[in-house]
Amino acid sequence: MGFPAIAEIAMKPEVEIYDTTLRDGSQGEGINFSVMDKLRIAEKLDAFGVHYIEGGWPGSNPKDMEFFKQIRRRKFRNAKVAAFSMTRRKGLRVEKDDLMRQMLEAETPVITIVGKTWLLHVLEVLRATPDENLAMIADSIRFFKDHGKTVFYDAEHSFDGYKNEPEYALATWQAAEKAGADGIVLCDTNGGCLPVEISRITALARGRLSAPIGIHTHNDCGFGVANAIAGIEAGATHVQGTINGYGERTGNCNLTSVIPAVALKLGKTCVPKSSLRKLRELSLFVDEIANFKPDPRQPWVGATAFAHKGGMHAHAVERLAASYEHIHPETVGNSRRVLVSDMSGRSNVLAKAKELGLKLTADTPELRTILARIKELESQGLEFEAAEASLALLVQRQLRHRELPFAVESYHVSMRGDHSSSVCEATIRVRVKDKTAHTVADGDGPVNALDGALRQALSRFFPQLRKLQLTDYKVRIIDSATGTAAKTRVLITTSDGTRDWGTVGVSENIITASLQALVDSMEYALMRR
Ligand SMILES: [Zn+2]
Repeated sequence: MGFPAIAEIAMKPEVEIYDTTLRDGSQGEGINFSVMDKLRIAEKLDAFGVHYIEGGWPGSNPKDMEFFKQIRRRKFRNAKVAAFSMTRRKGLRVEKDDLMRQMLEAETPVITIVGKTWLLHVLEVLRATPDENLAMIADSIRFFKDHGKTVFYDAEHSFDGYKNEPEYALATWQAAEKAGADGIVLCDTNGGCLPVEISRITALARGRLSAPIGIHTHNDCGFGVANAIAGIEAGATHVQGTINGYGERTGNCNLTSVIPAVALKLGKTCVPKSSLRKLRELSLFVDEIANFKPDPRQPWVGATAFAHKGGMHAHAVERLAASYEHIHPETVGNSRRVLVSDMSGRSNVLAKAKELGLKLTADTPELRTILARIKELESQGLEFEAAEASLALLVQRQLRHRELPFAVESYHVSMRGDHSSSVCEATIRVRVKDKTAHTVADGDGPVNALDGALRQALSRFFPQLRKLQLTDYKVRIIDSATGTAAKTRVLITTSDGTRDWGTVGVSENIITASLQALVDSMEYALMRR
């Protein structure tokens, strides 16, 4: 394990990263973190080098309280843990408010208090007087300052509130500052503001307050990241967001975009320099814990962020990588991919082969046959863009005229069911040199059963195949070039726990197409040994 360089420890970053994946992010649809999930994400965030981790709202549910209890026992190197709550309730002394007491029980070094900026919300939602709201903000912050905490004040609806009643908005922020807040965080809670509004109001706040300014944005107009950057350019030195942009509605400001933008585009220090290369890994890790499929089109870290298609581009990229890329993909732990498609010429295929580590050059005599074979298969409906393993096998089969590691001699799939349940059964016979294996397996569906039977049979000869897992299975109906019968294209993704690869099969019959993709997947695993 490496330690951060001395210079990195000593230097206060120009922009602090405050992660709220575990609190605001967990409000997103389809997200349900367990306590263990939250602990694992927090550890990953600390190792990555964010400065603050907001763990949850102790008063909102027992799960968050349990998280705070467990996190206390862990030593963090970079991050400080924050607990979140709203201001004290109206008409109640701060020390008498259970919410405040529960916050202290969380025993975090940092407390974040959210309060009202927008007069409309004070009057209609809170049903409090403007002065009572100011007192609620000030009392809550002072209470935690008196307990020795670092206190951030999240000013809800900062921008909408300011646009509606600037003097009152300012008064709420000044109340927080006077009470000792360590930072005033301007929030675009509804995500409806334009970058230019964020710039103007943040700059104004910057001029009127002496406490550090933070920015917290949402992505409802698609400006989550742009608005955070606008805030930072206007003087904010603290930015709140979530990994992969998780959050309510369309999500929060995406830290996996903000962090590299701050470091590489604004040239400001934030997380340790060495962490940027772990950005893609962090993004994938959090998706995995949340059980989301990573978005391939995610800026900076997505699988297609540095993918190039089309003969000319691929050719140019091969010669001059920077010509079609805004940064070196490795800077954020991503990599360049060259996609192969019907549009592609020799240069695409050669670039792809190089990326896959295959010995193929413009002078290889088999290149012509390989290109012809790809074209032929593409016209039948195969697509290699997400099936790199099938492409690698195609090239290898043409290059080394060697025997296949195994052959499927026969198979049979059947299904039986009644009104309440159904089960599929597959039998398969495979040959490896002069030996055969014959196996049977059950499955939820025909492909699942076939996968089970094939893997069982092959594992007798190649035990390393046991750890493979089918991680994704996609079916698409395509028109064949002949325009007669519709065909089925099956794309599967297989993982060995550390790497994933895609394979493809096409046939009029979904089972046959699936078997092709499964066979390619196993053969590829054996080829790469
Ligand atoms: Zn929020």
